[in-house]
Amino acid sequence: MVGLMATALLLKHGFSVKLIDDGQAPEPPPPLEISARVSALNQGSFNLFQKLGVVRELTTHARAYHQMKIWDQDPPVFLDFNASSLFEPWLGWIIDNRAVRHILWHFCQPYLASGQLEAHWGFQARVFDYTHGFWKISGGDLTLEGQFLMGADGGSSGVRESQQIALQKYDYHQSALVTVLDLRNSHQNTAWQRFLPAGPLALLPLKDSHQGAMVWSTSHTHAASLQSLPESEFLALWNQVFHSSGLTAHSLLCERKFFPLTSEHAKRYTFEGGVLVGDAAHKIHPLAGQGVNLGWMDVAALVSLMVRAKTKSRSPFGAHVSAQYACERRLANQLTQKAMTVLNQVYGMQTGLVSTLRSCVTRQISRQRWLQLLLLEPALSRLPLLCEKFL
Ligand SMILES: Cc1cc2nc3c(=O)[nH]c(=O)nc-3n(C[C@H](O)[C@H](O)[C@H](O)COP(=O)(O)OP(=O)(O)OC[C@H]3O[C@@H](n4cnc5c(N)ncnc54)[C@H](O)[C@@H]3O)c2cc1C
Repeated sequence: MVGLMATALLLKHGFSVKLIDDGQAPEPPPPLEISARVSALNQGSFNLFQKLGVVRELTTHARAYHQMKIWDQDPPVFLDFNASSLFEPWLGWIIDNRAVRHILWHFCQPYLASGQLEAHWGFQARVFDYTHGFWKISGGDLTLEGQFLMGADGGSSGVRESQQIALQKYDYHQSALVTVLDLRNSHQNTAWQRFLPAGPLALLPLKDSHQGAMVWSTSHTHAASLQSLPESEFLALWNQVFHSSGLTAHSLLCERKFFPLTSEHAKRYTFEGGVLVGDAAHKIHPLAGQGVNLGWMDVAALVSLMVRAKTKSRSPFGAHVSAQYACERRLANQLTQKAMTVLNQVYGMQTGLVSTLRSCVTRQISRQRWLQLLLLEPALSRLPLLCEKFL
């Protein structure tokens, strides 16, 4: 998803791109095929879709959520964020990842005819060779050449590995179990999250008002046992754990899958002739739905620096551009990563004193608008000024 956004922004600003992906070209999601792989988009990401002129396509597939309700114990003390009380039209959008890929690819496709874009779907890059200021990237019997390499190849990045860039890792000892629930009542355009001792359980509102995407972060063994429970037992458990929301689920709309969760951060984002972006550079806990948003902010920052360099007749691929990109994004990503880890740990603590303290803090936040704005800053923040000016 991050590589496609980078491609779209680069094309829009007149750069030529060779897109390499070992998967298939994105197709529109079949309407009856429900997927649990969805993303919560924040304001900054929404602004990027606006810049590309594809907001109508986005909103056709996405659900805006106006409220966020977070709690831990039963009976609950809700931490309640409401768009209208924060004078915002919405807090974010939930969208199927397949739809995101298709919208971005649809934007890029017209550039194929002019040759500004070359797309190599189903191409697995294996060898990355940089000599005399040029890349040679090969896989199978094909070799591609280019001037600048953007490694947007995800958590197991081959680009990162080829440059021997080490990772700082933190293991959450959790997996995220995902599925889609068919609800008896409406999700009320609300993103729900209950913190349980072993990790957060979230329900994200989908386009259909009676469908919610579940992300249940818990220990690996618990995730595996939840996956193998018969559907009726799983639903009974979910309904019991989530009953404070007032929602009831009566069936599962897709299979349960789980993903091990780690926090990873590349020790550097730059190398000679290129950079890392998105999950290739950083992976975080999905509890605040920020992963792909951070990746998109990476490419927004990088492309705006490249465009600015071009307008000043400097090389957009120069080391100064990459260094400035890394300087801007590394700290922002690290802070978000740390915040997610701390939040996950604080809610994992179950002693009486910590629980009481948490309830007091929750009540305070629910009463204070400025505190709510502070906490929702990552979700509500617009594009940085540099991106606004140059994208
Ligand atoms: C359960 C869960 C829920 C999440 N929810 C959210 C959310 O609500 N909001 C949010 O912002 N984020 C969320 N995330 C995080 C988000 O999914 C990731 O941050 C995002 O997908 C990263 O995108 P990417 O493009 O960097 O990497 P990827 O999506 O991994 O894409 C990498 C691409 O590179 C290709 N590739 C890899 N190696 C090669 C190679 N050698 N040659 C050619 N192609 C190659 C792959 O095929 C793939 O297409 C969630 C994550 C999980 C696990």
